[in-house]
Amino acid sequence: MVLAELGGKIKDAIGKLQTATVIDEEALDAVLKEICAALMHSDVNIRIVQKIRTNIKQVCDFEELAQGTNKRKLIQQAVHDELVNSLESDRPAFKPVKGQRNVIMFVGLQGSGKTTTCTKYCYHYIKRGWKVAMVCADTFRAGAFDQLKQNAMKIKCPFYGSYTETDPVMIAEDGVNKFTDEKYDLIIVDTSGRHKQEASLFEEMQQVAAVVQPDDVIFVMDSSIGQAVHDQATAFNDAIDVGSCIVTKLDGHAKGGGALSAVGATQSPICFIGTGEHFDDFEPFNAGSFVKRLLGMGDVGGLLTSMKEAGLDGEAGTELLQKMSDGIFTLRDMYEQFQNIMRMGPLSQVLSMIPGLPQGAAGQTPEQQKAGSQRLKNFCTMMDSMTDIELDSEKPFDLQNSIPDRMRIMRISRGSGRHPQEVLQLIDEHKRFSKMVGKMGKLGKGK
Ligand code: GDP
Ligand code: MG
Repeated sequence: MVLAELGGKIKDAIGKLQTATVIDEEALDAVLKEICAALMHSDVNIRIVQKIRTNIKQVCDFEELAQGTNKRKLIQQAVHDELVNSLESDRPAFKPVKGQRNVIMFVGLQGSGKTTTCTKYCYHYIKRGWKVAMVCADTFRAGAFDQLKQNAMKIKCPFYGSYTETDPVMIAEDGVNKFTDEKYDLIIVDTSGRHKQEASLFEEMQQVAAVVQPDDVIFVMDSSIGQAVHDQATAFNDAIDVGSCIVTKLDGHAKGGGALSAVGATQSPICFIGTGEHFDDFEPFNAGSFVKRLLGMGDVGGLLTSMKEAGLDGEAGTELLQKMSDGIFTLRDMYEQFQNIMRMGPLSQVLSMIPGLPQGAAGQTPEQQKAGSQRLKNFCTMMDSMTDIELDSEKPFDLQNSIPDRMRIMRISRGSGRHPQEVLQLIDEHKRFSKMVGKMGKLGKGK
């Protein structure tokens, strides 16, 4: 099952406790049974599943519990902690440092998503203002250079490669030297793969590494093979010093849970995950944030990081937090938030970090996500037709279906070309959103 489904199953199992009359050993066993079945369905290795189960049982020792402990919360927290444990590595992933030369070499089997992932990785850093370049050291696959070139041009990233040179080691060396001289922060070397692990691939990888002296080697693997990535990752690790991993194709495949937990067991940290074919379908991986979102627990930490990255932690952000904690959230604040959300990247990623949003609000499919973005845009268009007074007052509409209200709604509808019903929806949404943001503000301040 895909990850969202796995999360849903686990969430449902825990959720059932909300209506249970007693939460005892038996109820816990029933929940664990469902959770373990869901994990196995996602191809998580049976030994990992058993370990998760044993550890949760140990933490949830009801006999030792103080009176009044919320058992459902305790179970939820234990599940969270165990899943995080199974995904976390003891070692942090390599983080490039801006302003110095970082050479990153990408390795993996053919078709695992290396070239796509290199592009996503570059795009991630370009958006954050880094000076990034790509080198195509894949001379094995026909058309590899063209593919990289097209990708690089789409994200406006300088690239290096050759149509005539057949030695990947030469290309890698020339390309990295060129971009080092030109003072690039981040130089990405895309290498070739093979359909299966072969001595020739490993030799080539070692030779390329010897000339480019990478600061990090990232192993890219396809999650659709599930727990089998464990053996693949181990083989690559034995051949080259793999520093971090990226797991791709977590959008559509049934065995994502198996793949992620198998990497967790290799002790190579996962630095990013790939969740689609677009260059935006790419997320920094943090086990804690990931599990919180999977279980619908809301990820305030992750949200604050995203806000920081989008430059929203400055004065404007502080001012908003202040207003929020005072319980003030005007339409103009909402307008600005919508603009910010659109700036922060794929909507679903951002929305899934917001605690308390109903499941599915973030939209799982690209169509739903597109519809979500369009809806925000329409909202902004309608707010563009509002007056400053409407935007800045705390309760601009009395919502008693009064004549002045109705006239204003008609005016906004005409001005924006949207149906009056939509204007009403917007006003409703603002009411709902201001409540939610107030809650978030409290949580964020508690951090
Ligand atoms: P390489 O041979 O390792 O360089 O792999 P490519 O980058 O050429 O990717 C192989 C295929 O996987 C391409 O069709 C990509 O569009 C696709 N792909 C890569 N990453 C993802 C992902 O995260 N999700 C999905 N759905 N497809 C992906
Ligand atoms: Mg490739």
